[in-house]
Amino acid sequence: MSNDARPPVIIVGAGPVGLVAASLLVEEGVPVTLVETCSELPHDLRASTFHPPTLDMLERFGVVQSMIDQGLICPTWQFRDRNEGVVATFELSRLLPDTRHPYRLQCEQWRLGELLHARLQKEPLATIRFGAKAVAARQSAAGVEIDVATADGKQETLKGAFLVGADGIGSIVRQAVGAAFDGITIPELFLTLSTTFDFREAMPDLANICYLSDPKEWYVLIRTKRVWRALFPVDAALEDKDVTSPERGERLLQGAWRRSVPYEVTHRTAYRVHERVASTYVKGRILIAGDAAHVNNPLGGMGLNGGIHDAFNLAEKLTAVIRGAPLETLERYSRQRRQVALDVVQQTTLRNRAILNTREPEARKAYYDDLRRIADDPEKHRAYVMRTSMIQSLRDVEAVA
Ligand SMILES: Cc1cc2nc3c(=O)[nH]c(=O)nc-3n(C[C@H](O)[C@H](O)[C@H](O)COP(=O)(O)OP(=O)(O)OC[C@H]3O[C@@H](n4cnc5c(N)ncnc54)[C@H](O)[C@@H]3O)c2cc1C
Repeated sequence: MSNDARPPVIIVGAGPVGLVAASLLVEEGVPVTLVETCSELPHDLRASTFHPPTLDMLERFGVVQSMIDQGLICPTWQFRDRNEGVVATFELSRLLPDTRHPYRLQCEQWRLGELLHARLQKEPLATIRFGAKAVAARQSAAGVEIDVATADGKQETLKGAFLVGADGIGSIVRQAVGAAFDGITIPELFLTLSTTFDFREAMPDLANICYLSDPKEWYVLIRTKRVWRALFPVDAALEDKDVTSPERGERLLQGAWRRSVPYEVTHRTAYRVHERVASTYVKGRILIAGDAAHVNNPLGGMGLNGGIHDAFNLAEKLTAVIRGAPLETLERYSRQRRQVALDVVQQTTLRNRAILNTREPEARKAYYDDLRRIADDPEKHRAYVMRTSMIQSLRDVEAVA
């Protein structure tokens, strides 16, 4: 608990983005109050991919080795045709020497949350309030205020110098910024099934991360340390209980690979997917980051990573402003990170979806030919993995004024 007399930066949301932002700010000597609706850190199964530059960035917190110990290093990833097999395999060793982590790490996002939370608990500059839901936010020239509803039914007002909304897709802070959240909702639901079956028994040349294209039913296979996660598109008109029914799961997995015994499924979750970017990430003393600012489909693992990259950019500029830089410095954060969300994350994830689900044979062939050309040419291969691992976007934003 902070005894600091200075007004803190209030952060709403103890997801990965809020926890990274809080960790960075206290490291710079800035007092932080973090409020989170849930009574403890959320443990639901969501993203599990950490890209190379994100691991490079997280190294300063001393958490990466523990994530590696709990996770699975994936040096390659792959596009396959569901019937014909491998289309192209991409090697992250091509990123050397531009990263200290030339691989994707598969590690459930809540594990990062646990590690950062444990660090923050020891930080005198950090106050963490669980069971505290932000219900309204406002600002004046001098500071910010949020109204918080607590688990015991009370309401109180917290005052701070700045407010960071890392409160996910339904962000209340985004409303206070007055940002539009335009974009599209993907027509299908995404169903993720975790299974103990080792898909390499079925496909020995399978990479740990694989996108399987098919005009009728594409899917994705991602290996974690303990299970394989299979992601399938499902009709959004179905009722929730039908989407996640054991029968549907078994049918989809048997369709992916026919087995004489049923699949053991340890976890299933379905969610609606959007492609949306807030019209601005900043208004005066209020900022938004992560899913509060942008959401996209998970094909490429860019949402969580992009959110963490937001937190680093935001914390650097906010620290500068607290130390005397003009308030407008924060607007560059918005310009830089919006550009990444629109031009890189959205473009890449939508293209990945198109490669997976395009029905016209000519268009599919064109996508496959393009992927093979990239994989076979050393320069193109390196440029492609620089972009898809998000190193390139971190460099390109430096040119944004
Ligand atoms: C079901 C599901 C599955 C997903 N699967 C994948 C995947 O397979 N691959 C992938 O790349 N991405 C996936 N994602 C997306 C990924 O999890 C997000 O990009 C990532 O969690 C963003 O982190 P964040 O910190 O911005 O937001 P979040 O992780 O959403 O955290 C926001 C936090 O704010 C809290 N909060 C919200 N409102 C308030 C309030 N008013 N007051 C206080 N606290 C509040 C919430 O309780 C939450 O803890 C998935 C998302 C969901 C919902």
